Amino acid sequence: MSTLIAKLREAGLRPTRQRLALAALLLDGRHRHVSADSLTREILATGEQMALGTVYNTLNQFTEAGLLRRVTVHNEHSVFDTNTDHHHHFYDSENDQLFDIPAGLVQLAGLPDAPDGHSIDAVNVLIHISPEADRAAEDRAAESD
Ligand SMILES: [Zn+2]
Repeated sequence: MSTLIAKLREAGLRPTRQRLALAALLLDGRHRHVSADSLTREILATGEQMALGTVYNTLNQFTEAGLLRRVTVHNEHSVFDTNTDHHHHFYDSENDQLFDIPAGLVQLAGLPDAPDGHSIDAVNVLIHISPEADRAAEDRAAESD
């Protein structure tokens, strides 16, 4: 617990009870992708009471402090990544699951210039995938048409 307190303090966050409870799940060195929903379920399972809004706010605070990285899957849905090193993702929307792609495995042949008055901050590749089993089912459905 004392390392978690130190991590939060180093990031400029006061180690409140709720932040510590979430830090215990998120800052243990494992690379995970969590949503506010999935993390709220997880925290309730530990016996801690925490509202979805509180979890979401804390995830945002951790992100702003550089402890997490936000992966925007689409406008209404963000996933928070405990791996803050530069990397890319596969996204399976059917299972709402992200898979890491090491940065070195994606090579871009070229990038357009940023629009006037803008500069490029980061390039994050999100490759949409779907489970193979569903592909097969779709093929069968197509054949029976
Ligand atoms: Zn990731």
